[in-house]
Amino acid sequence: MSADRTTLSVGSTPDGSRRAADRKQETMQTVLILLGPPGAGKGTQAKRLIAETGRPQISTGDMLRDAVRRHTELGRKAKGIMSAGQLVPDDLMEGIVRERLEQSDCRDGYILDGFPRTLSQAEFLRTLTDGAQVVVVNIQVDEAELVKRLSGRRVCPEDGQIYNVHYSPPRQAGKCDRCGSQLVQRPDDREEVIAERLSVYRRQTAPLIEYYKQRGLYHELNGDRGVGEIFEDLKKILNSR
Ligand code: AMP
Repeated sequence: MSADRTTLSVGSTPDGSRRAADRKQETMQTVLILLGPPGAGKGTQAKRLIAETGRPQISTGDMLRDAVRRHTELGRKAKGIMSAGQLVPDDLMEGIVRERLEQSDCRDGYILDGFPRTLSQAEFLRTLTDGAQVVVVNIQVDEAELVKRLSGRRVCPEDGQIYNVHYSPPRQAGKCDRCGSQLVQRPDDREEVIAERLSVYRRQTAPLIEYYKQRGLYHELNGDRGVGEIFEDLKKILNSR
């Protein structure tokens, strides 16, 4: 994806007079789909890739959590489903994703983190990415490790900083290093819900591996390594396209 970084920068060069139609011809829309179970590190990698590729991260989990916080209609519908570790219905998801992808920052491409999660969502996405370069990367981590990562995760409700009691604890237990706020555990990171999320992943999302393999779009990374090492491999995949 970063191979066309120069093309991407066209819009922000002093040559601002280029018409959008000209730019469209030069810039292939690139769509990166990060697959992988909950806790694999999709969000962490997506955040790093924003700087590398200039594309926005589209995290459906973050969008839903935001809707829950703001008590929107979507948030009210999603809240119970999310805290039970289930998937929000496809029609709701497809509606919010369609709306988000229509925004101008997605014109040159985007990084999907947490979508698609079902075959129906994948088919829906296919209709939106016609003509785009699509790259699918599955980050693989074994289940015992996922449970440790998810159950150890703590989040600062004020600034969104993420900690892990096992791997990256805050300096003072339970408090955010940056702002001192009391850290919280996501309701769906409780152990009983983690088991359900992993089972939902196996049943509903893992079939996407075969789906994308059949379409020749599939790549796999060992996610049981340091964040930087995984990121380097991810860049190699994107640059080889
Ligand atoms: P995440 O932060 O990606 O782990 O997502 C948290 C929760 O949001 C999931 O366990 C689901 O309940 C819901 N969710 C996020 N993305 C999707 C999706 N593509 N389809 C259905 N539900 C989703």
